[in-house]
Amino acid sequence: MFESLSDRLGNVFEKLRGKGALEEKDVNEALREVRVALLEADVALPVAKDFIAKVKERAIGAEVLRSVTPGQQVVKIVHDALVDMLGGEGETSLSFATTPPAAIMMVGLQGSGKTTSTAKIALRLQKRKKKKVLMASLDTRRPAAMEQLQILGEQAEVKTLPIIAGQSPRDIANRAMEAGKLGGFDVVMLDTAGRLSIDEQLMTEIADINKATNPIETLLVVDALTGQDAVQTAEKFKQRVPVTGVVMTRIDGDARGGAALSMRAVTGAPIKFVGVGEKIDALDTFEPERMAGRILGMGDIVSLVEKASEEMDIEKAKKAAKKMAKGDFDMNDLADQFRQMRKMGGMGAILGMMPGMGKMKKMVDQAGGLDDKEIVRQEAIISSMTKKERSSPKLLNASRKKRIAAGSGTSVQEINKLIKAHRQMADMMKKMGKGGMKGMAKQLAG
Ligand code: GDP
Repeated sequence: MFESLSDRLGNVFEKLRGKGALEEKDVNEALREVRVALLEADVALPVAKDFIAKVKERAIGAEVLRSVTPGQQVVKIVHDALVDMLGGEGETSLSFATTPPAAIMMVGLQGSGKTTSTAKIALRLQKRKKKKVLMASLDTRRPAAMEQLQILGEQAEVKTLPIIAGQSPRDIANRAMEAGKLGGFDVVMLDTAGRLSIDEQLMTEIADINKATNPIETLLVVDALTGQDAVQTAEKFKQRVPVTGVVMTRIDGDARGGAALSMRAVTGAPIKFVGVGEKIDALDTFEPERMAGRILGMGDIVSLVEKASEEMDIEKAKKAAKKMAKGDFDMNDLADQFRQMRKMGGMGAILGMMPGMGKMKKMVDQAGGLDDKEIVRQEAIISSMTKKERSSPKLLNASRKKRIAAGSGTSVQEINKLIKAHRQMADMMKKMGKGGMKGMAKQLAG
């Protein structure tokens, strides 16, 4: 099973608690895990090695913040290094020529999502940047590809160049640029032909059109699901055309995100957009921060570390943890947790931020999630309880529940749900107290 980097580090760092500064031995052990995790996330080996060396340099000797564990701190260092390495530019970096129309050339293998991405970008430029966009398909070998672009154009309400049978790709490109000029378009998007694999003829054709149209952007479309193959494809395209940016599609299907890291490191080309679904608006600008979080695992230790140093009342948290471990987790403690959660951005956010808690977060999400509004309601329920009820929830019989429901403006069902959630949490805390994280992980897995 794929274990997220955060989870792995969580295990290593259990041992490091209470240390004042990060030592080389500790860092080395942690970085071994980072390396395995990167490789599992589909990062190329030389890239992973290079990355580890950079992190090591930063981590050794770093002062450990009082309010976080050394493990969390290393995760933060790893995260920051990931962001640096991913360092892509966003949409704003798409440049436009001073004399329109500006050509944007789309290249990539067949099936990479090139045509879909062409329409997605056109729609985005038209809608958000108020550019007048014309799209043209240069794929003369597959008439279906031309029709596909036309249909997408109709959906997105972006103009497409009328199809004329028998023209060469080069002729179509010229006609598109001409039509762009005459029609007052700001941008002409050229969707070039793709092949199942790279061949010389295709490369010559693309290089030729590239020279003729002199595009301001040549965007290479690659499928994230093909991982390292995508990186190799990118290298080959880069040898023949001046790729100015990468569009990585099917990010929605690749939870690992490692290809993005290799892509950037190996090709040097910035990832400008990511495809996040089949729909015409399923396109995001590339956010290194978000991608780093993804490579690290579902968790976002980084913001936990940042928030922890600002907001957590450590002494209080320690006391609560002790109580919980003993199994004395009453409604007062639950109310405290809710307050803390609200400060830090919701139950899901907190669970998602803790290593090893990915599964628990899933459970909460499956149970319908707990958003801020929900938390406020839960707090209202607890504050409608008497002191006695709060410290021994067992007292909560039918008539008491009715009273509380009336007092908090909720229903008996909601109160039952809270009681159940409390009981489950108390049980879980107890197990955590006994077996530590590992005990609980076993519990959750079983
Ligand atoms: P082309 O041959 O490179 O032009 O590829 P297409 O644009 O025809 O895309 C091939 C398939 O991939 C289509 O079914 C698209 O809907 C799908 N597709 C494209 N981009 C994405 C994406 O970001 N996410 C998902 N899930 N599907 C995508």
